[in-house]
Amino acid sequence: MTSRSKSLFNTADPDMRKLLEKEAVLTDLGNASGLAYWDQDVNMPEGGEDARVKLISTLDTIQHDLQTRRYLDRLITRLEGKVDNGDFSEYDRALLRELRTDYDLASKLPRRFVTEQSKVNSKAQQTWKRAKMANDGKGDFSLFASDLAAVFDLKRREADYLGFQGHPYNALLDQYEQGLTVEQLDTIFPVLVDATKTILDRVEGAEVDRSFLSLKYPRGVQWSFARRLSRSLGFDFTRGRLDRAVHPFTIKFDPTDVRITNRADPNYLPAGVFGVIHETGHALYEQGVDRGLSGTRLATGTSMGIHESQSRFWENYVGRSNEFWEYWFPMLQRKFPSQLGSVNVDQFVKAINAVRPSPIRIEADEITYNIHVVIRYEIERDLLSGKIQTKDVPMIWNEKMRSYLGIDPQTDSQGALQDVHWSSGLVGYFPSYSLGNIYAAQFYNSLRNQHPDIDRSISKGEYGFIRQWLRENIHRHGSVYRPGDLSTNVTGEQLNPQYFVDYAMNKFGRLYGIDLKTSQLNPLHA
Ligand code: ZN
Repeated sequence: MTSRSKSLFNTADPDMRKLLEKEAVLTDLGNASGLAYWDQDVNMPEGGEDARVKLISTLDTIQHDLQTRRYLDRLITRLEGKVDNGDFSEYDRALLRELRTDYDLASKLPRRFVTEQSKVNSKAQQTWKRAKMANDGKGDFSLFASDLAAVFDLKRREADYLGFQGHPYNALLDQYEQGLTVEQLDTIFPVLVDATKTILDRVEGAEVDRSFLSLKYPRGVQWSFARRLSRSLGFDFTRGRLDRAVHPFTIKFDPTDVRITNRADPNYLPAGVFGVIHETGHALYEQGVDRGLSGTRLATGTSMGIHESQSRFWENYVGRSNEFWEYWFPMLQRKFPSQLGSVNVDQFVKAINAVRPSPIRIEADEITYNIHVVIRYEIERDLLSGKIQTKDVPMIWNEKMRSYLGIDPQTDSQGALQDVHWSSGLVGYFPSYSLGNIYAAQFYNSLRNQHPDIDRSISKGEYGFIRQWLRENIHRHGSVYRPGDLSTNVTGEQLNPQYFVDYAMNKFGRLYGIDLKTSQLNPLHA
């Protein structure tokens, strides 16, 4: 175990001690709000909604006020003046760096603006729900268009308050992935689009039987299998919980208390199985953070993209591999003998990896998933710059679906209304999902180079050294390193989509029995 509970910070310095005290209060307030949020999704009776929204908003306002107090600024400034002398470690410096960034961010946004934005987003969320349900569930985007315009107007103002270089979207991207820019994404995403098109062209028409995944799978049996999977991947139930919720998520209060939620769909087995592997991946990251960082903002994953790389690492690179199911499939078969008794492991692995364009992002396969992200990214970028108008979003959406994936969404609820993100003001968030896929491929490549026998271990159900490698290289550092630096430390380079492309060509070429050419562009890539 690398976890320690001894503080990693310079507690001999009185200013640092004061700062850590303030930071502990801010952390506790954030956790109280998180706990209220977790409870809302897991336990709260329906009737409690209004009171809960108020409670969370009160806690968030107190936190925002404390976070923008002038004495905090003065304390940070004083410490910045002496942090380069020998008594301060990289942990002290990282904490000051993050505090400075967050302080400046919070104080750049006027209080009036924050309140207005939170009202507009709340209203947009209600409207979005109504618009999605309208028309007998087919949805009606026109009901949502003006609320969406209001959300994006405020996002543009937010970008102006925060300041940016180049495209205004850069100011928003930076909040989820520090340093990420439109210029970078406009280089990276076309690489993913090209590779996806190549794979789609080649696998089109190949018949894969997936029918057995949609038989009746009793929830109770699914749950006991999910718990067993999670435990065996390394989720520590003495420092975490697994509960039911409509939308799976992970939340952490401390490395010693990390909670995941999942759902079991009685008519579709993969939703629950891969849901729990995915959330366990997020949870292992949080449980693996060095406990010496506890009580500070460094005690959590460093960015949305890196977090998503951890969930996808386990879900796709480990959990959708042949070797993984060599070990688990016999047990799954015993749990569901009538559904899977006549299926063999190869058929199962083909079915859970089948590439087939579909209109819904969260149901997409590993390859077409990125296209769903690219479409949302392009629309957000162009709405923000004023190049397109919100009323035209469904038309643009459908055009892009047709040109990238060759499919026609039949309804707005299967199209531009499907995700909650825009209505809650999460603009700039979608790219993190694809960054997760790319980072995961890069990490996986480094791990493989150091442990060439990884497949054999996975086929025996042994994941200890994988977890150890991730913990040592990524998890324990929390937010000490920014995503770009972490990537360079672990893989020797910044974000590079070629690893994902090579992995995908390899994997899907093998699964479909076709020769997909992999690139030799990167000499580092063995
Ligand atoms: Zn995730």
